Amino acid sequence: MKNLFIIIFIFFYSSQVFAKANLTDIKYTNLDFNEYKVTFMLDKQVKFKVKSLNQQKKIAIDFSNSSFLYKPSKKRKLDSKFIKSLRKSTTNSKELRIAIELAPNTTLHKSYAIVKDGKLFTTIELKNNNLKPKALKTTQSKKFIIMLDPGHGGSDCGTIGTSPRVLEKDITLKFAKELKKELSKYPNYKVLMTRESDIKLSKVERQKLANQAKADIFISLHADSNPDIKMQGASVYTLSQEALDEESTALAERENKEDILKNNKLLKQNHEIANILIDMVYYDTKNSSIKLAESVAKELGKDIKMIHKHHRSAGFKVLKGVDIPAILVEIGYISNKEESKLLSSYMYKKTFSRSMAQGINNYITKNNKKN
Ligand code: ZN
Repeated sequence: MKNLFIIIFIFFYSSQVFAKANLTDIKYTNLDFNEYKVTFMLDKQVKFKVKSLNQQKKIAIDFSNSSFLYKPSKKRKLDSKFIKSLRKSTTNSKELRIAIELAPNTTLHKSYAIVKDGKLFTTIELKNNNLKPKALKTTQSKKFIIMLDPGHGGSDCGTIGTSPRVLEKDITLKFAKELKKELSKYPNYKVLMTRESDIKLSKVERQKLANQAKADIFISLHADSNPDIKMQGASVYTLSQEALDEESTALAERENKEDILKNNKLLKQNHEIANILIDMVYYDTKNSSIKLAESVAKELGKDIKMIHKHHRSAGFKVLKGVDIPAILVEIGYISNKEESKLLSSYMYKKTFSRSMAQGINNYITKNNKKN
């Protein structure tokens, strides 16, 4: 072992005395998304040292008894994700120094050298720990997931119409099924329902289903009733998150429904809508719900009597939850005799669902690249 060491020492020593080495080539290679290597080729073996300087922001490689004969070709650009600059800086006439300024978050991972055919290949490997692998491009083929949520179910009948006798839970399920049929005609949509039969679900369970399915849109369907039996028409509701005052933010934070009800005009008028909307706080972000609601209301309004155009309630800040648009559609008033009959008719259900599907599709095509 000792002998070998001496031989190498003499070899280096002699090459230093008799011949000057030239740095003739620099090679840049991307090893991985966050790893990069630079190899310096010298036409002879010389001693070299790799130093980390300036709190590892710079690297200096000193080649003894060497000069710089390298002419960089334009094709070989160094990767700025790892290296800011690389230049030669000769410290004295015998020593060649290569000074490398590293890009932020990049560090020297390792350095090594090999000798091949009398040439010296010195390599430094760099790592940038801030780089992330590129996301797989699967979104183009991914289907857009629409979660339909028929209100009520099971022992929770919702509101009840008396002449004719209709239950809200049945209306919402029928319309959701028809809407699913209409939306399924579009090739890029996967349409799911929180319930497909007469079962009771809590609001948390409904949200959970949407989350588990990774739904892109959440649409809740309900039917309304009013002591004023003349009231009729459909409406689309959302929560917006604009114009927040501190008070409503604090209220939303506490999620105290009663407090929110007291402070909101619309919600005071209709407790059921209020409750559903407040639960939708969970979803509504970036005003995408408003866009969806407007698009649906616009299409519905062409064929269906609307009680008012899309109704925006006052904003509550979204404090938790999922970045998907959510709307509440009140199909109509089952407390109104005429409308109650309409809601039970096949043609009305068909027209309503087709218009809604059109509105949803318009929104998605306009606002989402997935489609
Ligand atoms: Zn309802």
